[in-house]
Amino acid sequence: MAAAKTPKPEELMAIRHEPPATPWMETPTVFRPGTWSYSGTPKSLTALGFPNPRAWQPSDADWKLPENWQSIILEGMAERLEKYRSFRLFMDICVRCGACADKCHFYIGSGDPKNMPVLRAELLRSVYRRYFTQSGKLFGRLAGARDLTIDVLKEWFYYFYQCTECRRCSVFCPYGIDQAEITMMGRELLNLVGCNINWVTEPMANCFRTGNHLGIQPGGVKDMLEFLAEDVADRTGVKVEVPLNRKGAEILFVIPSGDYFADPGTYTCMGYMMLLHEIGLDYTFSTYASEGGNFGLFTSHEMIKRLNAKIYAEAKRLGVKWILGGECGHMWRVIHQYMDTMNGPSDFLEEPVSPITGTRFANARTTKMVHIAEFTADLIRHGKLKLDPSRNDAYRVTFHDSCNPARAMGLFEEPRYIIKNVCNHFHEMAEDTIREKTLCCGSGAGLGNEENEEMRMRGGMPRAMAVKAVREKYGVNRLACMCAIDRAALTALMDYWVPGVAVTGVHELLANALVMQGETERTTDLRGEALGGRAADEAV
Ligand code: SF4
Ligand code: SF4
Repeated sequence: MAAAKTPKPEELMAIRHEPPATPWMETPTVFRPGTWSYSGTPKSLTALGFPNPRAWQPSDADWKLPENWQSIILEGMAERLEKYRSFRLFMDICVRCGACADKCHFYIGSGDPKNMPVLRAELLRSVYRRYFTQSGKLFGRLAGARDLTIDVLKEWFYYFYQCTECRRCSVFCPYGIDQAEITMMGRELLNLVGCNINWVTEPMANCFRTGNHLGIQPGGVKDMLEFLAEDVADRTGVKVEVPLNRKGAEILFVIPSGDYFADPGTYTCMGYMMLLHEIGLDYTFSTYASEGGNFGLFTSHEMIKRLNAKIYAEAKRLGVKWILGGECGHMWRVIHQYMDTMNGPSDFLEEPVSPITGTRFANARTTKMVHIAEFTADLIRHGKLKLDPSRNDAYRVTFHDSCNPARAMGLFEEPRYIIKNVCNHFHEMAEDTIREKTLCCGSGAGLGNEENEEMRMRGGMPRAMAVKAVREKYGVNRLACMCAIDRAALTALMDYWVPGVAVTGVHELLANALVMQGETERTTDLRGEALGGRAADEAV
């Protein structure tokens, strides 16, 4: 199926934020090309043990559902209302104050009222009322209740796959209603009848087969890391090691596969390797735990648990003391918000202590997993790294707080501290678009696929406009972030909305500035571009 052609930016900008012509329950869902994702393939669903594997597409009239699909979903809803107190609470307590209404990037970028968080939740609440509340059973529509029909199911699919589970709306909700949790429940219920998207199910199936989303076999992981080590040697003259599956190493290092497989993540990966070599850390990569990302977060709680377990199983097998994690997004939401009750306590590991500075990471006392930004910021704070920020002088840098490290774990200061120590030119975006109010890239939660490009560009538009403002004011040409999905998604977003701004990981910037022992005279950055904006033949 060919992907739809994405309209030009000036066409997308013509957004109408107007009330719909018909009441929302009577407004049909139109699967417009460019705004939805292809279905999960039978092969992936079978590999994952998901129900109803079949060939179908959301644009088909017949979704080939099981005959008793309504009862499957309603039983699934009853089970989850019983199991997750938060789900029942979020179904009951919204007062429709509207504080969240204009906070979703998909609503801002599309003008579609069903992309208002309050209305997105109502898609599910209306069915909850009809079958699980007295008022809904007695008064139906009058009580905001409606039957679960095939059109309702299609509407769920369309709009729960137009939510990136970014949780920005929750920051503004006086009741703390977490829309991401509601979307997750909506997706779980859709899964029960075999309705999901391939950009989520295929990476998960790959993960179970080879250890990572991209389906790279262990030999391929080794080749990629060795290839990056050769690139480091070319740029710096320093030969960094590639420790793999090493039993007895002190630390297991887990990164998203996008970091060793695709540009610009590869430069971030080179940055990690240079840093860990320079400080002489006793660590190992793993070809089994070769993925930090966890697409279970976009699928079901059961899947989160299954995928997260392998990192800890590998830590146990290798006999490490603790785990260091790379610049991933949703891996950190899983670690900080689910790990302890899903697969914890990880008592076979030790409370992480930096072997270089002696700092005890008490915040990781239970998960035993430290974010590399915390680890690196601590090294800098203790004066353990020799840094030359002028090597990044060609760059005017701004920082995008990736939704999960920012909102799920409050990691605001560490990346900024690193960037300010390795770059001379750093400029923040507008206050209401950063830190806990950060705007999503528009492509998270499995939506970063080609066929959904128009919706991604719409959803990413508010973030892109904030970058555009600092580009026009300060000449910003580098957008730093700490998430592998962001590195891919923001690159496409910048090309579309703000050409001239390249995307970088924080540890790529760090590695440019890192003065390594035994390095040869460095004339280029990790991308092979002239260091510090000087001519490549100038000495540094
Ligand atoms: S801000 Fe919270 S309470 Fe208000 S409408 Fe949105 S979800 Fe409901
Ligand atoms: S995409 Fe983010 S802001 Fe929009 S409804 Fe989902 S969680 Fe809320």
